[in-house]
Amino acid sequence: MNNFSYTRVSDVASAVREIAADTTAKFIAGGTNLVDLMKENVARPGRLIDITRLPLNKIEATEDGGLRLGALVKNADTAYDETVRARYPLLSKAILAGASAQLRNMATNGGSLMQRTRCYCFYDTATPCNKREPAAGCSALDGFNRIHAILGASDQCIATHPSDMCVALAALEASVQVQSSEGQRQIPFAKFHRLPGDTPQIDNTLQPYEMITSIDLPPKSFAGNYCYLKLRDRASYAFALVSVAAALDMDGDRISTARLALGGVAHKPWRDGEAEEILNGKPASLKNFQQAAAAVVRNAKGYGENDFKIELAQHAIVRALQLAVSMEQPA
Ligand SMILES: Cc1cc2nc3c(=O)[nH]c(=O)nc-3n(C[C@H](O)[C@H](O)[C@H](O)COP(=O)(O)OP(=O)(O)OC[C@H]3O[C@@H](n4cnc5c(N)ncnc54)[C@H](O)[C@@H]3O)c2cc1C
Ligand code: SF4
Repeated sequence: MNNFSYTRVSDVASAVREIAADTTAKFIAGGTNLVDLMKENVARPGRLIDITRLPLNKIEATEDGGLRLGALVKNADTAYDETVRARYPLLSKAILAGASAQLRNMATNGGSLMQRTRCYCFYDTATPCNKREPAAGCSALDGFNRIHAILGASDQCIATHPSDMCVALAALEASVQVQSSEGQRQIPFAKFHRLPGDTPQIDNTLQPYEMITSIDLPPKSFAGNYCYLKLRDRASYAFALVSVAAALDMDGDRISTARLALGGVAHKPWRDGEAEEILNGKPASLKNFQQAAAAVVRNAKGYGENDFKIELAQHAIVRALQLAVSMEQPA
């Protein structure tokens, strides 16, 4: 671990001023990802700006009838919040499918969006990795790539985004509220994370001098028919190989609106408008579910060890849609 200095801030204006003044600085919230990366020598901030005392720890209604989740609300407090459970149960389930109780008690909403890939080579500083060190090469492309992307990857990086929470946020069409010393802006969730392309070192569209202040949920909550299905190597305490957030608005046996987002398959939570269009206005039948699943993986590509994910994703989509209709919970 490198030497670093530490500053604790108590208001948002100071936080964004401090981060803008020092390009080596990083915010620290729950610390569950950043401290690990520092211990592994992957992240080497010259300064930590502790934001845990900022007043961003509330969950409150928005004027448009949605819900604002403060960036510093802990994952556990978000998942167990009465309003979140009643109105956005898909989000609650997705958060509770992640990490462990201890981690969820520490990890924050903002930090969950910013957590970095779990690609083994990214963590192993003895191996080349374009995300850790641009232009170094990618050890996973022809190496052990069982957990890697099947969609939207590039020849520079085939890493996946690891978060469960973000898959539900993509399906719910959340937006990310951001503050810098220049003012506020809002980033639609679909535009927050990015595909690797030629710059895999950049995970998202947040600028280094900006801070996430909240994640806003729109009024439409899909509390009637939803499912978060996470397939992983162990029953708990493991990242998703493939996960699916399915959210449906039903009109009798017909789907009026479908939202489908996948985790564990791409550099960002993967939403597929074409698959949703296949389902919109159609009966909730196995045939339509299979067609939607086939559309999602139409351009999927495996890299050897992860070829199995293409079939796994299709089965997971069909199963998640069935569970969303029946409202049974995944085993
Ligand atoms: C063993 C283990 C298992 C895990 N399993 C899962 C899992 O199954 N599913 C899952 O989804 N996650 C899992 N996680 C990841 C965990 O959810 C993340 O580590 C956590 O969400 C990060 O939140 P944090 O508050 O601790 O972030 P920190 O570690 O404090 O910060 C992470 C990054 O976010 C930045 N940051 C933090 N807050 C802000 C903000 N407000 N604005 C801008 N930047 C900010 C920091 O600068 C840093 O770069 C696991 C973690 C561990 C250690
Ligand atoms: S997949 Fe991405 S993160 Fe993993 S080694 Fe290749 S460049 Fe690095």
